[in-house]
Amino acid sequence: MAPTVLVTGASGFIATHVVNAFLRKGYNVRGTVRSEKSAAEVRQTHADYTGQLSLFIVPDIAAPHAFDEAVKGVDGVIHTASPFVLNASDFETELFQPAIQGTTSILKAIQEHNPDIRRVVITGSFASVLDPSKGVRPGYAYTEADWNPVTAEEAKSNGVFAYLASKTFAEQAAWQYVKDNKPNFSVTTLLPPMVFGPVLHHVKDVKSLNTSSADIYRLIDGSETEVPTNAFWAFADVRDVAEAHVLAFEKPAAAGQRYLISTSPYTYQQFCDIIREKFPQLQGSTPNGTPGAPLPPVYTLDTSKAIRELGIRFTPLEDTVIDTVDSLLKI
Ligand code: NDP
Repeated sequence: MAPTVLVTGASGFIATHVVNAFLRKGYNVRGTVRSEKSAAEVRQTHADYTGQLSLFIVPDIAAPHAFDEAVKGVDGVIHTASPFVLNASDFETELFQPAIQGTTSILKAIQEHNPDIRRVVITGSFASVLDPSKGVRPGYAYTEADWNPVTAEEAKSNGVFAYLASKTFAEQAAWQYVKDNKPNFSVTTLLPPMVFGPVLHHVKDVKSLNTSSADIYRLIDGSETEVPTNAFWAFADVRDVAEAHVLAFEKPAAAGQRYLISTSPYTYQQFCDIIREKFPQLQGSTPNGTPGAPLPPVYTLDTSKAIRELGIRFTPLEDTVIDTVDSLLKI
């Protein structure tokens, strides 16, 4: 029988591609979602794979024992559920608790209720690698050896810092859990920067787009009169991120490793140039800026480890932009 992986937060932008990537490879997937309504939407999204997909309701990932039942009987776990919001008002309940306790609670659930699981892949983030105090850091190539040095005090300074900190503390909590408890399973963390690409998951309307898709939508809906300046200088295609989850689950070498997953540096100017050329109907609602302006000197991400050990290949930037906009136009 094909192995079954548990994918938490199966309703999300990235998770939908992760679920799809596992289903396409013949795996059975058990997805966790917060409600029956969400379960029905996820089922609809993957209607071609009805026999391979089941859904499990976990209403609150921050609750003690949240995943105790969900982990029973599966062969591996992909933990993607975590809030990606940059404007939270209550950092503790909206960000830190679901991110950190969500992570430790699934690891504990696996150790206590499913000793057969050998690999857990966690959707981390470049947020836990970046040092925001160093700014654009021209010439610096971030690697998996870098850690965001954010402190608990700094974490509360604003919504962006709080999000970056939630991912940093959650990843640190995962490694600490493994160190302290020596479980049967190994953990792999994937660390993408901004993730763009086609929106596959159920979206009620454009107002409810996930954070990174909304970041592209604002380039085409007329809300930006100027080309925005980057907050982060690297991105990954969601399909590559999904494939990385499968590879990280399958490759023995990925045990206990962190991987930066990123296509290339980018600017919104590059994105707007591509949009204005490929979607002439959007020229009136996409800022012009300075077409062809070169990438300023900024940090880069060294992805050689993921290429070497996972065998990942990255989608060209232009394909990501075109496919993202195509999917947003459909919504
Ligand atoms: P989405 O908002 O689309 O998905 C987030 C998922 O997590 C949803 O399934 C959501 O459930 C679930 N979730 C969020 N908060 C809670 C909570 N309190 N309790 C239960 N479930 C919760 O975001 P993405 O797909 O973009 O993000 C997925 C993961 O990828 C996150 O871990 C994020 O940090 C990480 N990431 C994202 C990047 C990006 O640019 N998109 C970049 C780097 C990392 P529901 O649908 O019910 O709200």
